[in-house]
Amino acid sequence: MKIDLVTIFPGILEGPFKESMIKRAADRGLVDIDLVDLRKYTYDRHRQVDDAPYGGGYGMILKPEPLFEAVEDLKNKSVCEGTWVILLTPQGQRFNQHRALKLAEKKHLILICGRYEGVDERVRVALVDEEISIGDYVLTGGELAAAVVVDAVVRLLPGFLEDEASADESFSELLLEYPHYTRPAAYRGMEVPPVLLSGNHSEIGCWRRKQSLKRTYERRPDLLQQADLLPKEKVFLEEIKKQQS
Ligand code: SAM
Repeated sequence: MKIDLVTIFPGILEGPFKESMIKRAADRGLVDIDLVDLRKYTYDRHRQVDDAPYGGGYGMILKPEPLFEAVEDLKNKSVCEGTWVILLTPQGQRFNQHRALKLAEKKHLILICGRYEGVDERVRVALVDEEISIGDYVLTGGELAAAVVVDAVVRLLPGFLEDEASADESFSELLLEYPHYTRPAAYRGMEVPPVLLSGNHSEIGCWRRKQSLKRTYERRPDLLQQADLLPKEKVFLEEIKKQQS
């Protein structure tokens, strides 16, 4: 996958992609991430990327010309078909694991990081395929939101995680993952559940599934409405509801 991040502050994005697993994914050739400085697409002495809003009011707006030129240039240079252009904006659809999975199927993503009061509306109308928000709050810029999206997408690329590693993860089946423990088996009076020390993989699997259902019921009951559950799992959930009511 190729990912271009268009920003006026490339320095903000250097850290997240030059460390740990995402860097390793790039080193292994799973993903090629480029930080594209929007000012490269300006031609005036001051390399101006923003201007005051028509109609007056507070703040500055990212101008259309550099953004159009940047996206068109990146598309022209792309060797992949079907470039997908994303605008990070608090007004977009809320990002979640399902959207991350859909994006992981694309070959080339261009993410536009807004700043100040946002981007000229013509960019949104003519260039953008998808608008994404990472939550109902307002950040100063789209860079951190873009880093969140890229991180969630890259770890879903084939070959990034071992095949089984993502199967039980939170949201993969609209359930939250079960609790984890590691050594020591007893710590400050808190014991690891004996089943996890039993070596019985069938019982461990059953315990984990039940914990996953219980945890989802307690923390995110909204997810359960769409989860695909077996009849015996529905019965188990009913029991938990009774116990807790
Ligand atoms: N004036 C805009 C509004 O009220 O909708 C907010 C602009 S915000 C200060 C500047 C930039 O940060 C946005 O253009 C966007 O790129 C990014 N941003 C802020 N909050 C975000 C969020 N929740 N999700 C994604 N991007 C966000």
